[in-house]
Amino acid sequence: MRDFSVDHSALALNTATLGHNVEGAGAGWSPERTIDACASRGITGIVFWRREIGLRAHQIGQSVRAAGMSVVGLCRTPFLVGPLAPKGRQAVMDDFCASIDMAAALGAPVLTIVVGGVEPGTKGPRDSLALVADRVAEAAPYAAARGVKLALEPLNPVYGGNRSCLMTVRDAVDLCQQIDAPNLGIAVDVYHTWWDTSLGAELLRAGPERIFGFHLCDWLAETRDMLVDRGMMGDGVADLRAIRRDVEAAGYAGPCEVEVFSAETWWRRDPGEVLDVMMDRFRTCC
Ligand code: ZN
Repeated sequence: MRDFSVDHSALALNTATLGHNVEGAGAGWSPERTIDACASRGITGIVFWRREIGLRAHQIGQSVRAAGMSVVGLCRTPFLVGPLAPKGRQAVMDDFCASIDMAAALGAPVLTIVVGGVEPGTKGPRDSLALVADRVAEAAPYAAARGVKLALEPLNPVYGGNRSCLMTVRDAVDLCQQIDAPNLGIAVDVYHTWWDTSLGAELLRAGPERIFGFHLCDWLAETRDMLVDRGMMGDGVADLRAIRRDVEAAGYAGPCEVEVFSAETWWRRDPGEVLDVMMDRFRTCC
């Protein structure tokens, strides 16, 4: 297992930790200001959200690399199914491809897929997962041609209704095996998987060639909001080292991105302070 107490080269900032995934949240730093703040602290990886990139993907990607950093990933595709997805299959696929184009222009090797909830008119996850499989299978070659890997991110079952009919690493690995595209894998997020005692076994089933990302935060025991009250590492009940041990035992040796959605706590603090705390917790708790 890598020793993060002496080496934070694997640390990446997911800009959602500064509120950049939500319009009007956080201090509203520009991508350039965020890049500078990371570079000055020796944080070498960064993951952006589409809403902060706009039409400047190429330019922002260049700024990251000019600062000696790398873009680790892009969040995210549209919801592919469910009540929050674009209306109609063509609209979904058009926006799916637009997100792939943005990842390619940014130089992001991985695009995260959050699949969306239960498709209206159906019940339970199975019919929706079949639609997801169909849509991901169609987009995968388009992404491969542009050098973009697609990471299916299973979400915590609390989001099963509207945001993700994909709720377990098991089902995500099954989808990967079913679709069988070389650029399709999974992203493992502590927030979504900390409760899962089968995680280690499922990650071994996925294998190193299918694990494309590892996301860090914590699960607060008295969480106040299922969407925007994630904990900073060390403040909650997730066994962060045990989860990382499982992820690395399955062969993953890539970046570990900190992704803390926290409207009432961390998004209200000075972003520089958040980055400092994040680095300290990465070294001492992860
Ligand atoms: Zn995540």
